[in-house]
Amino acid sequence: MQDQTGSPVLRNAKRIVVKVGSSLVTNEGRGLDAVAIGQWCEQLAALVKDGREVIMVSSGAVAEGMKRLGWATRPKAIHELQAAAAVGQMGLVQVYETKLRENGIGSAQVLLTHADLADRERYLNARSTLLTLLQLGVVPVINENDTVVNDEIKFGDNDTLGALVANLVEADALIILTDQKGLFTADPRKDPASQFVHQAKAGDAALEAMAGGAGSSIGRGGMITKILAAKRAAGSGASTVIAWGREPQALIRLSQGEAIGTLLVAQTQKMQARKQWMADHLQLRGSVSVDAGAAAKVRDEGKSLLPIGMTRVEGDFSRGDVIAIRDIDGTEIARGLANYSSAEARLICRKASTEFEKLLGYTGESEMVHRTNLVLSR
Ligand code: GLU
Repeated sequence: MQDQTGSPVLRNAKRIVVKVGSSLVTNEGRGLDAVAIGQWCEQLAALVKDGREVIMVSSGAVAEGMKRLGWATRPKAIHELQAAAAVGQMGLVQVYETKLRENGIGSAQVLLTHADLADRERYLNARSTLLTLLQLGVVPVINENDTVVNDEIKFGDNDTLGALVANLVEADALIILTDQKGLFTADPRKDPASQFVHQAKAGDAALEAMAGGAGSSIGRGGMITKILAAKRAAGSGASTVIAWGREPQALIRLSQGEAIGTLLVAQTQKMQARKQWMADHLQLRGSVSVDAGAAAKVRDEGKSLLPIGMTRVEGDFSRGDVIAIRDIDGTEIARGLANYSSAEARLICRKASTEFEKLLGYTGESEMVHRTNLVLSR
């Protein structure tokens, strides 16, 4: 069903992850399409100037590397593809850097792997870096770190990575730009009765059947990986749009609420998803007790927990582990991700952030648990 009035999902989206695939970025492998990248960058810059936070997840390194190495056909050997990615990445980020700068916006290269995001400490590190970049108004340009892993080379053309990044920063929306207009109920080349899907629920099993048929293999960046990416993104409350990358001003128009492509709406609210995520990490590694002032700030005002408000540190935990926050009676008031290990926490317990450097030899975050990584216990 077409929603002619457009959807408020994208209009209200504050934090947006945009993913573009290799064929768009490199003009079907002919070489980096600087004009197309320039147009996306112009739109990304306009979104940043409109107060939104945007992250670009871009493929194209392998395709560009192949061109630079003079390879006409895609090699079968994974190590050759990885080498091509390393060559091509140089050109890829160069174009993004130039085009974003032309629009008055800074950029940053971030190379990630799925394993980075599965590891709690690296997850937290990647999250803090990305959130800091967004706060600075810089657009992170992300690709898979193809040198050390090859998941996206084998399967995804970065669709999965786009979803993982949406999870990581709790984006409101993931926009997957591709060479198709969106999702059809069946392959339009084979089935004249197939219909365009304007809007559906992310994670609806029927979509997987439409995108490739039950049991179809997960090809490199086909529609099925996009449907699965939307399902994954919805896990942290992000809705996904699958749209044609050459649609003029697609990002701007989507952000104005226009219905373009296929919108797959997340069924869980962001906060609810976050609570679920924390609940799934039941294995508490430790806890900190806090004074009445800090307890009130965390519980009643939704503030972060600062080390100065802590009275005691229990257990043996690392940065990124889930810990409990307890009040003076020992009642759990919240759970969250620790910014500091238990050993570090013991050193900075009851201390102001100005003293951290003297005590630790470096300064990390000023919070023990940041409010965005914290969920109140019932
Ligand atoms: N991360 C890879 C790239 O940017 C995935 C695409 C591919 O395998 O061609 O090139």
